[in-house]
Amino acid sequence: MKIGLFGGTFDPVHRCHVAVATQVRDRLDLDRVLLIPSGDPPHKPLGTLAPAVHRLEMVRLAIAGESFLEASELEIRRPAKSYSIETVRTLKEQYGPGAELFFLIGLDAFLELHTWKDAPSLLSLCHFVVVSRPLCRFAALRTLPVLPPLDPIALAHIDSQGQDRLDFPLTGGTSLILLALPPCEASATDIRRRLRARLPLSNLLPASVESYIIQHRLYQEASDRTRVEG
Ligand code: ATP
Repeated sequence: MKIGLFGGTFDPVHRCHVAVATQVRDRLDLDRVLLIPSGDPPHKPLGTLAPAVHRLEMVRLAIAGESFLEASELEIRRPAKSYSIETVRTLKEQYGPGAELFFLIGLDAFLELHTWKDAPSLLSLCHFVVVSRPLCRFAALRTLPVLPPLDPIALAHIDSQGQDRLDFPLTGGTSLILLALPPCEASATDIRRRLRARLPLSNLLPASVESYIIQHRLYQEASDRTRVEG
């Protein structure tokens, strides 16, 4: 079993999230990809994420009909903040030694990896699949403290679309897999801004998610919101 784990705030889930999950699934021939919305912030400061119950439901709507994508409640059921290392350990135990886990992440988020809890252990527990994101360059990985030295020429090559995949071995027998995907421009921050300003959403969201947001009057407050860290 090859299982992809795709975490995020999904606030809200948008069409690029679904595109990443389906394209990585196809490219790496994964059996299943779990989309794992993060839990509510422990002390619920005013003006942070939309409630987890809504974010989870939107993920469910976005992936309806995609049989190999699954919404996971693992992080939203935990009372405390979930660290990725705990999520991966739990899922490794749950799926057992026969399963190979692939942690899907956008390049922008992966560039923050050194700030995560137990990042070196996390890299040795599962494969990491880092996908391109508009305005980010794989060359920036050269200076990421938790990674072994990466060949700068190979990184420049994938940035210039000379190749669409690069694999690097990591300690523990895992791999760092860099995948160049067709550029997908949606971002949750921009979508929330558009909703507050009543600007067109231009197909950035699956139709069912857009209807859910309208029905539940999400993201309509005028004040800007502080993001919580992943
Ligand atoms: P924000 O706009 O606030 O940064 P987001 O759109 O990145 O939010 P998240 O829920 O934070 O949404 O993202 C979950 C994961 O999806 C992250 O690993 C992120 O890098 C990745 N991701 C999100 N949008 C894209 C995109 N357009 N292309 C590639 N990866 C993406």
